[in-house]
Amino acid sequence: MALELNTELEEINGVGPSIASKLKQAGFTTIEAVAVVPARELAERAGLGRETAEKVGIKAREIINAGFLTAGELLEKRKTMMKCPTGAKELDRLLGGGIETQAITEFAGEFGTGKTQICLTLSVLSQLPPEKGGFGGRVLYLDTEGTFSPERIYQIAESRGFDVKNAMENIKIAKVYNSDHLCIIIDSLFKVCQEEGVKLVVVDSIISHFRGEYLGRETLPERQQKLNLYLHKLIRLAEVYNLAVIVTNQVHAKPDAFFSDPTNPTGGHVLAHACTQRLLLKRSKGNIRTAALIDSPYLPAGQISFMISEQGIEDNPSAP
Ligand code: ADP
Ligand code: MG
Repeated sequence: MALELNTELEEINGVGPSIASKLKQAGFTTIEAVAVVPARELAERAGLGRETAEKVGIKAREIINAGFLTAGELLEKRKTMMKCPTGAKELDRLLGGGIETQAITEFAGEFGTGKTQICLTLSVLSQLPPEKGGFGGRVLYLDTEGTFSPERIYQIAESRGFDVKNAMENIKIAKVYNSDHLCIIIDSLFKVCQEEGVKLVVVDSIISHFRGEYLGRETLPERQQKLNLYLHKLIRLAEVYNLAVIVTNQVHAKPDAFFSDPTNPTGGHVLAHACTQRLLLKRSKGNIRTAALIDSPYLPAGQISFMISEQGIEDNPSAP
């Protein structure tokens, strides 16, 4: 009889039952999770020697093929990328068709600019099967601010003609209590997303705990390093499972801006580099908001308006 591996982790060359159980206990339950974590963190958290941790990481990456890709291979991979409409056609146009898989899309803006409304609308719409424009998968919603509203999901799903019960079942919410908790949850995503067929991961918001916990300039490097680590795990997750990640972000006043735009997304260069598409939301009249695409690797900058309504978000009916 062939030898059966009792955990997926033992597929990694050099990982036997003992290392596998140490990894599991430290929260690294999948090959992907082992592959993306820096060796130092793997060693510390799983109690492995540094050399062992490095070897295990390399072997894990060999399995998921996380090395170099040729341009041709990359193009093939990009072809599997999917786009999902946001509920507002003008916003889709700005985004070149909608939010995309294999990427992080960021929505930044002041309080009340519609960030959460966009996340909620996408949590419903992304469930549509691919032939109807969605991702056809489940949704994981990491709620750090306690603003996830099941009543609102119900309303959006019902007004858009979804099977409401089904739509609600397909969204899993994790309340996130602090930045360390966020780290634990992000590590578990590699397993959960695979098992549950998740196609959209929402982090609303990516920054609030960091801003609350790291006060003072001297703590900034540590905060940024931690944020960087999480964001890279999210990017890998999006790439490995061909899923979309959306994050919301706050804004702060530009210290040097007197007459120019007074708001700037928080999170500095780390967030700027990690997010593929970055949008800045602002209030307009009543339920109207504007969204500006401020950074994209291949789309032109631009600005549109949308409306917050019963349906979540939709086009601004009085836009030209
Ligand atoms: P934030 O950017 O802080 O996450 P939200 O996404 O929570 O902001 O947006 C809050 C705005 O959404 C408020 O102005 C509120 O009036 C509006 N809103 C919430 N629910 C509805 C609804 N059912 N119909 C119309 N507007 C709504
Ligand atoms: Mg919000």
